[in-house]
Amino acid sequence: MSTLAKAGSIDTREPTRVDPRPGRGALAIDGGHPVRRDRLPYGRHEITEADRAAVDAILRDQPLTGGPAVVAFERAVAEMAGTDHAIAVNSGTAALHASMLALGVGPGDEVIVPPITFVATANAAVMCGATPVFADVNDRTLLLDPSRVRVSLSERTKLVVTVDYTGRPSATDPVRMVCERADVPLLADACHAPGARLGGVPAPSLARAATFSFHPVKHAAAGEGGAIATNDPELAARATRLRSHGIDTDAAARERSGGHAYQMLELGHNYRLSDINAALAASQLSRLGASITRRRAIAHRYLDELADLEAITLPEPHEGHAWHLFVMRVRPERLRASRDEVFAALIAEGIGVNVHYSCVHLHPYYRERFETAEGQCPVAERAADELITLPLFPTMADSDTSDVIAAVRKVIGAYTVT
Ligand SMILES: *Cc1c(COP(=O)(O)O)cnc(C)c1O
Repeated sequence: MSTLAKAGSIDTREPTRVDPRPGRGALAIDGGHPVRRDRLPYGRHEITEADRAAVDAILRDQPLTGGPAVVAFERAVAEMAGTDHAIAVNSGTAALHASMLALGVGPGDEVIVPPITFVATANAAVMCGATPVFADVNDRTLLLDPSRVRVSLSERTKLVVTVDYTGRPSATDPVRMVCERADVPLLADACHAPGARLGGVPAPSLARAATFSFHPVKHAAAGEGGAIATNDPELAARATRLRSHGIDTDAAARERSGGHAYQMLELGHNYRLSDINAALAASQLSRLGASITRRRAIAHRYLDELADLEAITLPEPHEGHAWHLFVMRVRPERLRASRDEVFAALIAEGIGVNVHYSCVHLHPYYRERFETAEGQCPVAERAADELITLPLFPTMADSDTSDVIAAVRKVIGAYTVT
């Protein structure tokens, strides 16, 4: 605005931020000095010497797929999940799809899912030919709300999927009770939550099945990879068959028995995990306990050192939390900036924030194909406009954590309505 124009009018909407000229107190987005110059990512995988050795051992003299590394990885997943069986597949999405197929989800069925999740949770139901039914979340935890599940049940409901959003276990007593009463199985999308515990036991063991992802941004990296954990032997056998075209025996078993015949019993997929990926994931999984301990320590620093900021809401801690993500919420009524303005200001300060997630039912595909719309899940929709994910990964230095805290305090401080 020119001085001439300014002289003639008093602009009462002039922002009352800290001094916008470059200097110590000014926000980087207004030309001030950023908290850090290089951008801290929101997540980052770690590869150790042991990880490299595990992969190298496969490349030297082990089968590249269908070999013992996959079996060893499955054993490690089952132990982590507290289940009798684990089936390795090549992504978290494949784990969701294969477990839904193995549970008999098909055309005409409905699958209840929360809207605050990665699209793959709902997409897997669509891949089965089923209709995802979006049920709202609890405002405090952002997990699927059992009372909303109850009203979303119908004669066509084949499955309820809860999501361990941010690493907080979701197969809680109330939601399990609703499923039991309706005689509908519960699948836990535990892609955020390997190692999560609920009521003193591994959380994945409480659902009929749980699915994991070993994408590099998750707790343990395979490159691409996934797994299904279950105590149900029939489900395990069918999921195993579905990951390899619906064929009744695997190639290694035929080779051992000296036979050649196989039968395809139903339509499956190639969802097999290679031994290279399995060896890396197993090596990473062996550090899961240390990884969660470190993630928890960082999360608790955020909780302690941001607690006094009244313009944000921090996540509620839970003793069994696996802390995949640290997600805070802005409080629009306390801020003179939108979530997206806060987001942009944090990026300018060198903090790689993210948003997990926008509501799945509001993506164009779902609106067009399933006629979903705003207003269907008001709690999730409101939350989705307020969420900001802060950086959280085990190799973050204490100084990185301090930078995040400094940047959040600086930005939220500058935008808070007093
Ligand atoms: C990552 C993720 C998936 C998909 O896993 P991929 O391995 O990327 O296919 C599914 N659900 C949730 C909640 C996830 O975070």
